[in-house]
Amino acid sequence: MIENNKTDVIVVGAGAAGLGVSVILSKLGLDFIVLEKDEVGASFKKWPKETKFISPSFTGNFFKMADLNAITPDTSPALSLMTEHPTGEEYASYLEGLSAYHKLPVYTGVEVKEIQKDGRLFTLDTSLGSYECKFLIWAAGEYQYPKRKSFQGSGLSTHYSEVPSFSELDGDEHIVIGAYESGFDAACNLINQGKKVILLDDSNYLEHVESDSSYCLSPFTRDRINSVIDQLDYHSQTKVESVEFIDNKYLVKTKNGKEFETSQKPINCTGFASSLKLVQDLFIFNKQGYPLLTELDEATRTKNLFLVGPQVKHDNALFCFIYKYRQRFAIVAETIAKRKRVKRKLLKTVLKDYKELNFYLDDLSCCDGECVC
Ligand SMILES: Cc1cc2nc3c(=O)[nH]c(=O)nc-3n(C[C@H](O)[C@H](O)[C@H](O)COP(=O)(O)OP(=O)(O)OC[C@H]3O[C@@H](n4cnc5c(N)ncnc54)[C@H](O)[C@@H]3O)c2cc1C
Repeated sequence: MIENNKTDVIVVGAGAAGLGVSVILSKLGLDFIVLEKDEVGASFKKWPKETKFISPSFTGNFFKMADLNAITPDTSPALSLMTEHPTGEEYASYLEGLSAYHKLPVYTGVEVKEIQKDGRLFTLDTSLGSYECKFLIWAAGEYQYPKRKSFQGSGLSTHYSEVPSFSELDGDEHIVIGAYESGFDAACNLINQGKKVILLDDSNYLEHVESDSSYCLSPFTRDRINSVIDQLDYHSQTKVESVEFIDNKYLVKTKNGKEFETSQKPINCTGFASSLKLVQDLFIFNKQGYPLLTELDEATRTKNLFLVGPQVKHDNALFCFIYKYRQRFAIVAETIAKRKRVKRKLLKTVLKDYKELNFYLDDLSCCDGECVC
């Protein structure tokens, strides 16, 4: 327990990002706690039952090629879970194991509602009273903050994040709105359940190919699409404008004048917003809605406030996958350690593995290229 709810560092969120940075804080001997509104790995536990990781797990750590889904250099979900593409539930058990092993001080059932900074101190107003700290690391993710208003009548649809399992959805035919990773995931899983799927999207990700995995479909998803493509009724360049409920049917109207009808609620796969809306006054956002960060992932507007996780973006480099954003945990932890005057020798020892296994990215010019083939 901490005294009077005061500590040096508070991490908000016990997902992949919050725990990943916490392991380093723990190794550095810093005073910190993690506040988690639900439980460790909660977002992963909320994934639809059939959904799997698109990035593959493979144990290469000892050859200095860490498992893409590992959040520390010395662990591998491939090894602990014995699978290449874990489900959300499986991955959450990897996170729980890691949290228990490192005895991370995670306070579950504490929802952070508002944050204020007065002088050098942050005050966090939570469902269990207020907490104070000098350094704050925001790691509350995106998944539990779905994008809901992408079209008129979106309240008549079920958001992807609200689907417990595709096998539990009633009906033989579904309309899926949005065809990027989650939309194609929904479509493939529904077809595998023997259902018919109409998939509507305002662009065409099947045709879109580029080097950066953040901006195009993963090979895992392409393989799955190829295995069901004959059964998929896919309409690209078809922007959904509205959903209405008329005569016990859901009527979906698109910008290019098409209309589709279904007796089941359409599934909204237009993406996620961000937990950052809870702390938006502490950040400045660019036109695309990404927070402006220093080279140390500190909010440009608020000293000692750091962001870790998939919302981190520097120019075109979007750190939205675990194998990308884990490379910034050590940068944030090192910055705090230096400001807390942690001994240089300890810092060097702790960061050694992180540097050797590409878990330490301090040259941001690296990530903006195109592969030649
Ligand atoms: C369908 C799908 C498939 C994906 N596949 C991959 C993949 O294959 N590979 C990959 O690298 N990435 C993948 N991602 C992205 C990956 O899930 C995210 O990068 C990851 O979940 C982000 O981790 P996080 O810790 O930032 O957020 P989360 O995992 O969402 O963790 C945030 C935590 O904060 C807690 N929290 C939220 N708000 C508060 C609050 N106000 N107070 C206290 N606690 C709070 C939540 O309960 C949660 O436990 C996928 C995402 C989706 C949706």
